Amino acid sequence: MRNIFDLTKEELEDYFISINEKKFKGTQVYEWLYQKREFNIDNFSNIKKEIRDKLKSDFRIDFIKIEKKQEDKLTKKYLFRLLDNEFIEAVVMFHDYGNSICVSSQVGCNMGCKFCASGKLKKVRNLEAYEMVMQILMIEKDLDIRISSVVIMGIGEPLDNYDNIIRFIKIINDSKGIQIGARHITLSTCGLVPKIKELAKLPLQINLAVSLHAPNDLIRDTLMPVNKVYNISTLIGEVKDYLTVTSRRVTIEYVMLDNVNDSLDNALELAKLLKGMNVYVNLIPYNETNSKSFRRSNKIMAFYDTLKKAGINVTIRKEFGTNIDAACGQLRGSMNK
Ligand code: SAH
Repeated sequence: MRNIFDLTKEELEDYFISINEKKFKGTQVYEWLYQKREFNIDNFSNIKKEIRDKLKSDFRIDFIKIEKKQEDKLTKKYLFRLLDNEFIEAVVMFHDYGNSICVSSQVGCNMGCKFCASGKLKKVRNLEAYEMVMQILMIEKDLDIRISSVVIMGIGEPLDNYDNIIRFIKIINDSKGIQIGARHITLSTCGLVPKIKELAKLPLQINLAVSLHAPNDLIRDTLMPVNKVYNISTLIGEVKDYLTVTSRRVTIEYVMLDNVNDSLDNALELAKLLKGMNVYVNLIPYNETNSKSFRRSNKIMAFYDTLKKAGINVTIRKEFGTNIDAACGQLRGSMNK
């Protein structure tokens, strides 16, 4: 049986049509769940009892559980227990312009990026769309807040869970649902080229971020196994196609690793690679993990200046959650650190 939070509005409408009911009932259910936050089907007062009973027999309506919370001033990290007792984390960040959430997309991750703690646990399974929707619903309820932007940058490679991610985005973006504007949704990928191509064809106005992290294959090969499958020229070629098809600016993520990818030559090489593309580079201060092989670079300002001078749009990622291991690449899928 499917969880009711796993359905797009169109699917709920189709469901009502299939049971000879009016299509707009789908919208009504959506409004109960996502606008009134009424999770007890018996209280859906504009739906008659017979249909409510049918809904209850056709759909599950159960929740993931908050297992643990940790917080510092601007960040709260949640550890969730899923129905099958797997664990994932999500992080909420409080900005002056609103609240954002970083959601996980898989239990574990198979991409194996050498510097990332989340990849230490191999992928156990994909998250269902409802398990991603619920990270938002549970945190909003727990803190009595509304979330205004979503980054899919937690544990997992979202494009390795493509169908569920698209479903998740449709659900949270729906105008009768949680109403998170597509421009406030960012999907970050390590560079699964065929899926970027598919994404480009969808009429979604979301932001795409690509984890590049190196200006050449020599360096990227040592950091990210995915580069052996889709190397830099293939990836950048695809990003160019994506820019042509969508006309939407792409973010290039670049984590600054001491003595690995942070020289000024690396900056110049990166500038050359990205010259003329409608992208901006987001430099990420490295958050050290238990594996001591990588260190935070202290050349980030000089790297920034070099890119700027070379005419590349560049920003430095503001840091959140470093005190509670809630920062990029520090999320884990288990209780035991
Ligand atoms: N799998 C997706 C999304 C998850 S990671 C991806 O690869 O893009 C989100 C971002 O954090 C990625 O750019 C990732 O490379 C980066 N990251 C991973 N570990 C990090 C760390 N320890 N410090 C800073 N950034 C890190």
